[in-house]
Amino acid sequence: MKLPVVQFTKEQQAFRLEVRAFLQQHLKEGTFRTKCDSWLSGSDPAFSKLVAAQGWIGMTWPSAYGGSERSTIDRYILTEEFLAAGAPVAAHWFADRQTGPLLLRFGTKEQRRFFLPKIIQGDCFFGIGLSEPNSGSDLASVRTKAEKVDGGWLVNGAKTWTSNAHDAHYMVTLVRTAPYDEQHKHKGLSQLILDLHAPGVTITPIPYLTGERHFNDVFFDNVFVPDAMVVGTLGNGWAQGLAELAFERSGPERILSTFPLLNELIIELKKAKDTVGLATASKLLAEMWSLRNLSIGVAQVLEEGGEVGIPAALVKSIGTKFEQKIPEIARLLVRAYPNLQAEHAFDRYMAESILHAPGFTIRGGTSEVLYGIVAKGVVAQ
Ligand SMILES: Cc1cc2nc3c(=O)[nH]c(=O)nc-3n(C[C@H](O)[C@H](O)[C@H](O)COP(=O)(O)OP(=O)(O)OC[C@H]3O[C@@H](n4cnc5c(N)ncnc54)[C@H](O)[C@@H]3O)c2cc1C
Repeated sequence: MKLPVVQFTKEQQAFRLEVRAFLQQHLKEGTFRTKCDSWLSGSDPAFSKLVAAQGWIGMTWPSAYGGSERSTIDRYILTEEFLAAGAPVAAHWFADRQTGPLLLRFGTKEQRRFFLPKIIQGDCFFGIGLSEPNSGSDLASVRTKAEKVDGGWLVNGAKTWTSNAHDAHYMVTLVRTAPYDEQHKHKGLSQLILDLHAPGVTITPIPYLTGERHFNDVFFDNVFVPDAMVVGTLGNGWAQGLAELAFERSGPERILSTFPLLNELIIELKKAKDTVGLATASKLLAEMWSLRNLSIGVAQVLEEGGEVGIPAALVKSIGTKFEQKIPEIARLLVRAYPNLQAEHAFDRYMAESILHAPGFTIRGGTSEVLYGIVAKGVVAQ
């Protein structure tokens, strides 16, 4: 596995400072409050509009759709700063990270013209409709079906654990457009863009450990999806979905979900002049640095159009264990009173990190499944 080493240019360093200044200003003005795991649970459509006004949604996409054709590394820098500040970016996250690139690769001209400018303006959010009550890791077993009718498809079934479906306008939904065949279950799957406000869609919350509304059950009862909303080729949903996963698994959000806590831990240790504690915390920083280099290397290969399935699985599996370790180590180094409403930032970040951490190694593919991908890659060498 060879990954490039990326050196940031002066312009990129300047861009980082520009993003940081924007976030500091909004923190100061009280537009948002820093939160751990904000990329998944910090949905704030008004904040997404502010980000859009900066030209920072879909920033790598073609100018023909309103994008600014910036590099993947620029986007990486932007994302790192959002995560470090714990900014509420969840509303536009999936459309920016996955749906846009999916449509640019497989979407029709009409789909791109209709959706991409709206996403870029912060007016259109997407959910990801993969998991079902009986299909998670074994995704090819999905049973939600779409039957051909005049002018489109009638969808029946259910998706579950759907992040932010209640805030999203549409969902890229993996459905069966041909009968289920146990021997060839990867075949006959297709991706449909489903309007979450269409008749027949019911969205019910699954309460998070924190009590917040984050993910949902989504039920489909004869939901009509026009032919024009099929993404790519009918029956090619499995291959198209796999292409999306590289974007989903390798980003800094698989390393930095609990970064606000790590930052606050170091502040607390410095205040207490706890040199032994700081030595332990610095080991976390060294680990973070290595993971970050791995993740940036993957971003660069993605930029060059290369294959990153295995390194992306590595980033996700090791990075999410790292995110989980931060509250475990923090609680041994500093006395904490974890409470979601605490004014003291350390206590609040501890509560958020502890309650969100179990999901880190499950969402986007469980660690065990990722180890399987890495092992198969090693065997194939
Ligand atoms: C916070 C959060 C947000 C999520 N958001 C979304 C979303 O927006 N959209 C969406 O579609 N889904 C979402 N998910 C669902 C997530 O993708 C699934 O939970 C995940 O893929 C695992 O599927 P499962 O829950 O059915 O568990 P299962 O697949 O039933 O796994 C149960 C256990 O068996 C193990 N296992 C399964 N297969 C294997 C194997 N082959 N080898 C070894 N071990 C195995 C797993 O590692 C796990 O420990 C979200 C989940 C979380 C926690």
